[in-house]
Amino acid sequence: MRKILIVGNWKMHLNASQASLLVHRLQENVKIYRDIEVVLAPTMLTLQPMSVQLDRRKFRLAAQNAYFKDEGAYTGEVSFTMLRDLAHYVIVGHSERRHIFGEDLPMIRDKVAASFRNGIMPILCVGETKQEKDDGETKQVLHDQLMTALSNLTGDEVERMVIAYEPVWAIGTGDVAKPAQAAAAVSYIRGYVKDVFGEKAAADVRILYGGSVVEDVIHGFLNVPGVDGFLVGGASLNYQSFAGIVNSTRRWQREQEGDNGE
Ligand code: PEP
Repeated sequence: MRKILIVGNWKMHLNASQASLLVHRLQENVKIYRDIEVVLAPTMLTLQPMSVQLDRRKFRLAAQNAYFKDEGAYTGEVSFTMLRDLAHYVIVGHSERRHIFGEDLPMIRDKVAASFRNGIMPILCVGETKQEKDDGETKQVLHDQLMTALSNLTGDEVERMVIAYEPVWAIGTGDVAKPAQAAAAVSYIRGYVKDVFGEKAAADVRILYGGSVVEDVIHGFLNVPGVDGFLVGGASLNYQSFAGIVNSTRRWQREQEGDNGE
């Protein structure tokens, strides 16, 4: 059974006590599933307390961002080096970082490199805006984002990382992509990895779909060959909706195994 990765991106929501309550509820409502990896990405402030509270058999931690220099006079920033013992993953190149904070392609490339340098797995987000989609530029945008972000990596590194296809028009809008749209993009991304880094990297790199994911839509995406899970924003802030996504993924896996029992 292919292992599914589900990442909850809490963005700039939940203070420390709210985060602690959500973790408590999630731990009650999510079981340990061998073939599902569940990752929580809280704010930087709550990573440390959550690392103590979390049941590591159920959840791993991700940071939502980090700066690519290891240390220095960079007021307000936190480095990948500082996150080493706290976070298993770091989200890099989220569209909000690209569009609100002006992160450009070289900065995202440097963050991906810093992530590997510090032994943290990057979750690289790529995806086109609505305008780019309407202009038929999706593949070109994905190509440019991948070419730069992966340019300093080896095939061995790429095969261990995570790429999230997140069409910008689907993020936080309720306008979820159709599984066929995700299928085309994911197939393009895997094809790019195959051309540049070879068969093994293309087979092993995990590719997620993100953009207005809720429980009702996930089976459609799980049925798309090559989709290895989800990056979930809004629906990860509520324990029922996030646990619903995880538990429904398990039901889907059981259906694939031909077993309808609990
Ligand atoms: C995200 O934050 O990456 C995201 C996909 O958000 P949402 O699920 O709310 O669209």
